[in-house]
Amino acid sequence: MTLKKIGHMIHAWLVKFWVPLSIVVALVTVAIGTTMVLLHREQVTVKIENIPIHSKKGPTAPTVGVLKPGEHLQILQRTGGWYQVRRENESKAWVAGWLVERSKPLNKLTPLSESTVVLDPGHGGSDSGALSTNNKYEKNYTLALAKRVKKQLEKRGTRVIMTRSTDKLVPLAEIPEIAERNQADLFISFHFDSAPEANSASGYTTYYYHKKNQSKRLAQAINQAISPNMPDDMHNKGVDFGDYLVLRDNSVPAILMENGYINSDRDFKHMQSASYQNKIAKSIPTGLENYLETR
Ligand SMILES: [Zn+2]
Repeated sequence: MTLKKIGHMIHAWLVKFWVPLSIVVALVTVAIGTTMVLLHREQVTVKIENIPIHSKKGPTAPTVGVLKPGEHLQILQRTGGWYQVRRENESKAWVAGWLVERSKPLNKLTPLSESTVVLDPGHGGSDSGALSTNNKYEKNYTLALAKRVKKQLEKRGTRVIMTRSTDKLVPLAEIPEIAERNQADLFISFHFDSAPEANSASGYTTYYYHKKNQSKRLAQAINQAISPNMPDDMHNKGVDFGDYLVLRDNSVPAILMENGYINSDRDFKHMQSASYQNKIAKSIPTGLENYLETR
């Protein structure tokens, strides 16, 4: 067979098969492109200072170093917001994924920045919760307060999960599951109390159920942090055991805050005000930081 003949054969073959051949080439190009994009997504570049890395997942795991901005990390696995990464020096470590994805600098990076906190605004949707003497719903105030707390926590870099962000009913049994599923470190449920008779009770209480999983200590830390910032006529009823499903069925350190009596006109006046809600919202990160420090 001469070279000329081979040339003719290839030419004939190309003429005959150019359509399927083009399709194959196109598909291979798309496949390579997609792989490149996917591989790229498994990489992240550190943008902010002082992100700690750990030998295991979670803020309490031993710290093995600190990342520098500009460092490229390969993401090996993701769970509960955490990444297992391979560093440029080939070593492996765990890091809070939301912090390595973050570009806005943090004033201070603390264990709270590395924590996942679930906020549960009590009631919602068809469940209005308790009523004020002028028929205002508890569900609206729990949501407003939780949103303010979220804002304060996010300023500190915390990963915040809300059980609801709108006026909807989340079945009670699902609430502790949200904490488990997101591998939360802390859980806070927000409520306002109600007395059988209007204007017969007043004040705020911080409830826990489990002692073993540090919930009682968490309740104490939060109660201590909010108490100096509360209005003078708001009585601190302290920390108490409370048999609530959202606490009982929760393996995460969990508390429930009753932030005043909605059917006390005096308490309700406070509850409605942004300044009262902000006092609580700004005290909670302090309480959480104290709790995390002494862990
Ligand atoms: Zn309630």
